[in-house]
Amino acid sequence: MSHSTQQEELNPYLIAQRQVDTAAAKLQLPSHVTELLKKPKRVLSVSFPVKMDDGSVRIFDGYRSQHNDAIGPTKGGIRFHPGVTLDEVKALSMWMTFKCGVVGLPYGGGKGGVICDPRELSIGELERLSRAFMEAIADIVGPERDIPAPDVYTTPQIMGWMMDTYSKLRGHNAPGVITGKPIIIGGSQGRGEATAQGCVYAIQSALKDIDLPMEQARVAVQGYGNAGRIAARLLHDLGATIVAVSDSRGGIYDPAGLDITRVEELKDTAKLADYGAQYAISNEQLLELEVDILVPAALENVITKENAANVKARIIAEAANGPTTPEADEILDAKGCIVIPDILANAGGVTVSYFEWVQNLMNYYWSEEEVLEKLEANMVKSYDAVRKMAKEYETNLRTAAYMISLHRVTVAMQARGWV
Ligand code: GLU
Repeated sequence: MSHSTQQEELNPYLIAQRQVDTAAAKLQLPSHVTELLKKPKRVLSVSFPVKMDDGSVRIFDGYRSQHNDAIGPTKGGIRFHPGVTLDEVKALSMWMTFKCGVVGLPYGGGKGGVICDPRELSIGELERLSRAFMEAIADIVGPERDIPAPDVYTTPQIMGWMMDTYSKLRGHNAPGVITGKPIIIGGSQGRGEATAQGCVYAIQSALKDIDLPMEQARVAVQGYGNAGRIAARLLHDLGATIVAVSDSRGGIYDPAGLDITRVEELKDTAKLADYGAQYAISNEQLLELEVDILVPAALENVITKENAANVKARIIAEAANGPTTPEADEILDAKGCIVIPDILANAGGVTVSYFEWVQNLMNYYWSEEEVLEKLEANMVKSYDAVRKMAKEYETNLRTAAYMISLHRVTVAMQARGWV
C-alpha cells in the first residue's frame, strides 16, 4: 500500500490517546502521568435482557467507562447507538475529563453506551431497555460517584426513567444521580439548549477573532439532534444564514438560506428531504460547502485526511464529540481554519448539567436567565483562556484546551498524592 492510500487511524480511543500525547509533550508531563491519563480508571461491561413487544427476549450489551476522578465524581452522557463500541465509550469518557477541565467543572470524565438502534424500538421497549441499563450500572453510579446524562439518541424522558429506577433501588428520591432530566423532576432550566447555546457563545468569540459579523456568516450544520437542530435555530435567530443542515438520512442545501421554521416542521412531521428534491445533498457534500462556519453536530471522524483539504469553512465549531481526526487537524491548521475543539465547543451541555446537579443537591432551583448568564460567562472565560494558551505556546485551540485540562488534572492528582 502506498503512503497516500494508507488507511487513517479512526479508532477514537487511539485518537484520544494521541491527543493526550501531543498536549502532554508540550507540557513536559512525566511519562507515568501521561500513561495514567491515557487509560480509563474503571470500565464496566454489561449484558442484560429486555422483553420485546412481540414476547421475545433480546440481550443488549452496554458499557460505562470512568476515566479519572481526581477532581470530582465522573460525569458524562449515555449513548444509545448501533455503532457503540467499548473503545468509543472509553474515548468519550477521556474527552469528558478534558471537557470538564477546560471549563473548570469539579468533575472527572465518564461515559456510557448501549449497542442498540432506538429508532427501531417502541416506546415501551425503550423504557425497559433504559431502566435495565441503569439497573446494570447502578452499583458504580451515584450523585457522588458518577453522574450520567443524555448523549446521542438519549432524551430527557430516558433520563427520567433512569433516575426513577436508581431512586427505587436506593429507596429514596435521588435526582442528583443523572442530569438532563425533565424539569418537573429536577431538570434544570436551559439544559435542553445548553450544548447548542454554549457552542453559539464559542462561535461568537471566534467570529470576533476573525472580525466577521454574525449577520454575514453562512453556516452548514451536520446533524439535526439536540445539538445541531438548536444550534441552527439560535444562529439563525442571531442573524446568520443557515444554508445547509442534515440528519442521518441526508441533507438539504439552499445557498440563499433555508427556511428554518419549515425545516423544523419537516423534521418533526416528515423528513428533511421533503424540503424539495432540488435541495438534496449528502452528508459528505455538506462538509465541503462554501460556508464561513461549519458545525459538525453528529458523530466522530467525519472530517478526515480525505476531505479536510476540501473544507472551506473558516470556523469549525465541534458540537459533536471527536468529529475531526488528528490528520485532518493538521490540514485545517495549515489552512488557517479555526477549529473550536469539541471539549470546548460542546462543553455548554455538561456545564448546565453541573448547574442541574448543584440545584439537585441544594434543592433550590434557578431561573433560565440565571442559568444562561452563568453559562455565557463560563464559555467566554474558557474560550479566552484557550485562545491565550494557544498564542503563548504557538499551537492550535485543541492542543491548548488539552494543555489547560491536563495541567489541571495533573495538579489534582499530585494534591491527592497519586503521582
Ligand atoms: N453527552 C454530553 C457531552 O458529551 C453531555 C454530558 C453531561 O451533561 O454530563 O458532553
